[in-house]
Amino acid sequence: MDLLRARGYEVIAPFRGRGRDTFFETVTDQNRDQVQLLKVKRDHGVLRIEPACDEPKRAIFGIRSCDVAGIYHLDRFYLGRDFKDVYYENHRKNLFLVNFVCSDPENDIGDECFCVCADTGPAAHDHFDLQLMDLGAEFMAVAGTSAGEALFTDPIFKKATEAHVARRRAILDLVRKAFKNTTSWFSATVRYVSQGEILDKTWEEIGNRCLECGGCTYVCPACTCFTVSDRQVGPDEIERVRMWDACALGGFTRMAGGFNPRRAVHDRRNRRFFRKLAHYFIQRELSMACVGCGRCAAVCHGDIGMPSVVEMIRRATTEVEKRESVGH
Ligand code: SF4
Ligand code: SF4
Repeated sequence: MDLLRARGYEVIAPFRGRGRDTFFETVTDQNRDQVQLLKVKRDHGVLRIEPACDEPKRAIFGIRSCDVAGIYHLDRFYLGRDFKDVYYENHRKNLFLVNFVCSDPENDIGDECFCVCADTGPAAHDHFDLQLMDLGAEFMAVAGTSAGEALFTDPIFKKATEAHVARRRAILDLVRKAFKNTTSWFSATVRYVSQGEILDKTWEEIGNRCLECGGCTYVCPACTCFTVSDRQVGPDEIERVRMWDACALGGFTRMAGGFNPRRAVHDRRNRRFFRKLAHYFIQRELSMACVGCGRCAAVCHGDIGMPSVVEMIRRATTEVEKRESVGH
C-alpha cells in the first residue's frame, strides 16, 4: 500500500465493519460512491454546464478473485460493446487492482462461496494488476499488467523459486477442497434458463420469497443497472448523478406514465436470473454476470440467493424429468 501511495495512487482497502461486514475505505480520507455526469451552475445569471469527470489515480487493495471477475464484467458491459461509457472509462483507466488470493480454507471460504463453479477463483487467472497470495512466511506476488510489473523494481520483491510455486499449488489444492457449496448444477442451470425451460411456477415460488429489499443487487460485484437523477446541491448548482439501481425494486421498470410492465415481483426476479445466466447475455458480453461470490445468498432474507435458486431449479427440473419418465 505504501508503494502505491508513494506512486500517487489513492489507495482503497477493505476494513472490518460490524458483524461479517467488510467495507472499502480510502486509506487516507474520503471516498465517493456516485459517479457524477455533469454539473449545472448559475454564474451571474448565466447557466454553465460542465462535465464532471473525476479521474483520480486509485488503487483498490486486497480485493478477492470474485471481485476481480466482477470488475471485468463491468468492463465488458461499459466498455466492451459498440458504445463506450466515458464516465466509467475515465475512472477505470487510472484504477490499479491488487487481488488477494483466498488461501485460508477456514477463514477465506464462506459457506456461500462458489467461485470454483464460476471459474473465477480462488486465484484469479487475469484482469488484476498485481496479485498477492499468502504462502505462510511470505507473500507471493504475480503481475497481471505492465503497471503491476513495474513495482517489481522495488527491493521488497525478490524472484520466486520452484518451491514457492509448488507451495502455491499445494495451498490452492487444499482451498479448493474447502468449498461446501460447489453449486455443481450451475452450468445446467445456465442451459435451462437459456432455453426458457424453467416453469412459471418455479419463478413464482422464487418471486414469492422476495421481499424487494434490493440487497442482492447492492452486494453483487457484477450487477450493472443504473438510473440517472438530477439533484440540487446548492442555490445555484445542480448535479446529474448516476446511481446503482436494483431490478427487485418496483420503480425499476415503472414508466414515466406510471404503467409498470413488470409489476409482479416474480416477473422482475426472473429477469435477474435471466440476465445473469442466459447464454445470450454471456455470449454478448463474453463474461457471466455471476462470479460466484455468494454474497446474495448471505444477505437475502428470503433465501433466494444464487445457490438456492440453482438448487430450486435443479429440484423442479428433476421432478419434471421423473414425471416424464414415469409417463413414458
Ligand atoms: S436480497 Fe432477496 S429479498 Fe432482497 S431483493 Fe434480493 S432476492 Fe429479494
Ligand atoms: S448473483 Fe450473487 S453469487 Fe452471483 S456475483 Fe452476484 S452476488 Fe455474487
